[in-house]
Amino acid sequence: MGEKLPEMTAFKSEEPCSRYLVPILRGNHFALVHVGKLEEIYHMHVFDSLRPTHPNSSPFISKSELNKLANLLAGKDVNTKITRVPEEHASARVDTIKKRCSLVSRHVDGKISKRAVLRQSTTAQSIIDFKNNVVPRIRNQYAPDHIFNVDQTGIVLEETTKRTLAKRGTDKVFRVCQRDNPTRHSMTFNPCISADGKLTGKLFVTLYEPKPPRSFRQMVAPFTDLHVTHSTSGIMTTRLAEEWMEKCLLPSIPDRSVLLLDSWHGFDKMKVLRAVARKNLEIVTFPPRTTGQLQPLDLFFNRQLKCFLRKLQDEIRLKHNDFTISVRNNLLKVARFTQNQFQAPRFAPMIQRGFYELGIVTTRPTFDTPAEFCFDPEVGKEKCKTCTNLSFFKCAHCEETYCIKCTIDHFH
Ligand SMILES: [Zn+2]
Ligand SMILES: [Zn+2]
Repeated sequence: MGEKLPEMTAFKSEEPCSRYLVPILRGNHFALVHVGKLEEIYHMHVFDSLRPTHPNSSPFISKSELNKLANLLAGKDVNTKITRVPEEHASARVDTIKKRCSLVSRHVDGKISKRAVLRQSTTAQSIIDFKNNVVPRIRNQYAPDHIFNVDQTGIVLEETTKRTLAKRGTDKVFRVCQRDNPTRHSMTFNPCISADGKLTGKLFVTLYEPKPPRSFRQMVAPFTDLHVTHSTSGIMTTRLAEEWMEKCLLPSIPDRSVLLLDSWHGFDKMKVLRAVARKNLEIVTFPPRTTGQLQPLDLFFNRQLKCFLRKLQDEIRLKHNDFTISVRNNLLKVARFTQNQFQAPRFAPMIQRGFYELGIVTTRPTFDTPAEFCFDPEVGKEKCKTCTNLSFFKCAHCEETYCIKCTIDHFH
């Protein structure tokens, strides 16, 4: 059950107009507020009295509360004593009020503590502060090709689409995957994007290796466009963060740049490395719990990356099943191929989109997403450039079309 609402009383305003003064809970105290119609009073009363609320939560409104309002509305003058109305009239009025105020009975999806609610309002405030103070400074101080955002994003080893068609009434629906275990483990990519729309430097990949082979270095050596490391969980560690900064990021960005990073504690040691100071790199950290609303990678890029991988892997399972997605060599082939396609100049506006949402880029970029462009179903009518199969993929660099078997090794 929700919280008990304070008693509602409406007073006629001193002003000679049809407005009413109602007590509204503001923080810890009541304030008298002028409002118009009675429905509006009720609406404000109910909604304000439970503030701050979770953005998706609906305040608790009981039927008896609505009845109270219905009774209140029955009186011509709200200052006069409320006349009770018969039950059936009251319920008809309740329906009218519900309709007018767009109120419906809802199943409650979750519970949220008062503390979490308060934390959310401080998070919302820090988002506003960041956008008002930090973003304009970065925009004025740095050129777009000097503004970078990097984060780690988990990539499931074998990714599958989450929906499928099934016969109505089917009890449970299963999707066939190549291997079961890889659908439960992830590796980590650290893409680095810039505000001028580039995917910069080598892609830093942390593979999931519970028992890494001795010859790991030699095995990954052919992938010169990737910087490949490993951990037992497939998640980046503090030590790997330092390796990434020194060997991967710093060599590929210009001096006097700015790097936007999330507040993950694993980055702390890396931020104070001497090499960072030598490069005059400013590191701006997003306030805790705000990356979903502020970080350019989260705002657009990462979703495109995952969508691209899912579509690619679906086609591999369908038409190229002897290519086992989750073995080390193939994971790296797919990573290299994906990075190479995303680096195509035509996707620069797509990369800029997250920076636009943050407010660093000011004109709205327009584009086809990589999955839309590369895996356009129309491509399926064309023959593959190198064999006789039908195509599946259109290269974002040369615009030639290829079948899935020839796709993975196509590289610019
Ligand atoms: Zn082919
Ligand atoms: Zn090409």
